[in-house]
Amino acid sequence: MNSTLTKYKANLLVVDDNPDNLRVLSAILSQEGYKVRKAISAKSALNTIKLERPDLILLDIKMPDIDGYRVCSILKESQETRDIPVIFLSALDKTDNMVKGFEVGGVDYITKPFQLEDVLVRIKHHLTIVKQSQELFEHNQLLIKEIQQRKQIESKLKLLLTTINLVSKAPNLNHAFADVLSEVCQMIGCDYGEGWIFNENDQGFKLGQTYYDASDQVLKLFHNLSLDYSFSYGVKLIGKVWENKQPEWIEDISQLDEDQFSRVKLIQNTGLKTVFAVPIFIEEKVIAIMCFFLRSAISYNPEMLELVNAVALELSGFIERKQTEEALKQANKELLRLANLDGLTEIANRRCFDESIEQEWWRMKRDKLPLTLLLGDIDYFKLYNDYYGHQAGDECLRRVAKAMTESCHRPADLVARYGGEEFAILLPNTDLEGAIYITKKIQTAIERIAIPHQCSYISTQITLSIGIASMIPTNETLPEAIIAAADQALYRAKSQGRNTYCIYNNDE
Ligand SMILES: [Mg+2]
Repeated sequence: MNSTLTKYKANLLVVDDNPDNLRVLSAILSQEGYKVRKAISAKSALNTIKLERPDLILLDIKMPDIDGYRVCSILKESQETRDIPVIFLSALDKTDNMVKGFEVGGVDYITKPFQLEDVLVRIKHHLTIVKQSQELFEHNQLLIKEIQQRKQIESKLKLLLTTINLVSKAPNLNHAFADVLSEVCQMIGCDYGEGWIFNENDQGFKLGQTYYDASDQVLKLFHNLSLDYSFSYGVKLIGKVWENKQPEWIEDISQLDEDQFSRVKLIQNTGLKTVFAVPIFIEEKVIAIMCFFLRSAISYNPEMLELVNAVALELSGFIERKQTEEALKQANKELLRLANLDGLTEIANRRCFDESIEQEWWRMKRDKLPLTLLLGDIDYFKLYNDYYGHQAGDECLRRVAKAMTESCHRPADLVARYGGEEFAILLPNTDLEGAIYITKKIQTAIERIAIPHQCSYISTQITLSIGIASMIPTNETLPEAIIAAADQALYRAKSQGRNTYCIYNNDE
């Protein structure tokens, strides 16, 4: 209904070739509060209707130019006028005439001469029907819109949930990227999806992941050729998204020139039209860009962009979590390394030795293999410290530790600072023969580094006494047993004049 309703009850058109009829009826209806327009012929009626759509038409049948039936048919043929209710008002009172009136689309038929009350009631009745169906139509439209919105929200939620699920299971960014591209492409019907990742080396964006129908040779070629591209800050589509940190939407990419989109020649062969690109950033820094291509040209669609943006946010959250996890792992690794390291000599500390001997003891017991322990002690180290000072003493410990470490090559061998000037060397799966070989190697190495020791009673340079113990662990023994044995052998080496080694003997 049009705006005249605010002033009038409704906007009516009365069509009659008899001027008297026209005048009388118009005057009455105007008095009743209707806006009334008059048409003296069918042609002028059709023109008037074109100018302003009436809410209801009172239509005479017998007219000289075109009869009322025809006028009604014409109105019913057009989209704009088909819903205007037409009430025939005619002196023709045969049933056939009435039937024909309804057949051509009239809603009512009043015979002349008419009762005024009757005409008014019928007009009111048909206007009410029009109003109600109008309201019903509007209500339906609202429902349809609501259903569409709900569907959009549902598919958005579904995509987000799927993405969260995929991303949380992905072992790394590349996997997460591949999963997300495939999911988004399938969900919103894209023909080609690509993920550009920031490359530290050339400080630009390079192609990381793509999604497309693998049997599509044209897209495959496009993908392969795209691998050679790299985009700098502010340059072309990818560089622009990087610079602006905003999504871009291009309805028909094939219409751009090479300054705007460098792959424009390649894209022309693929038939891809619409592209939109969405940045993924962490703390204001764009680290990846997702591009989606469609073969159909689609005008800017904020809902679609919003959806993909939500996915991009999920991805950036994932990357952030992964980075934090990685940093934590590294920090833990470093902490563990420091916890096991002797600060001065940078070889394993006592804590690490205690843990290792425990582990190796049980391992050798299980495999029934010999475990060997060497305990080494620098001869007359107290005198060295007193004479050369503590700084030189520390340096001496460092050099001895280095020489010992360089004498043991197998991964399981452990050289540790046992305490003060005492060192322990744990040699799993090593028998006495092997132990003596290592011991001699160590003593040669110590001799070779030739650290002067003026105050030694047995040499002019630093020397080492070593105690060796080797045993196959049993249920009846504990790791302490091998430590005590090596210690006893070391004590003997000391008492036998130092700068030598002694082997623990079970019979002792
Ligand atoms: Mg007439």
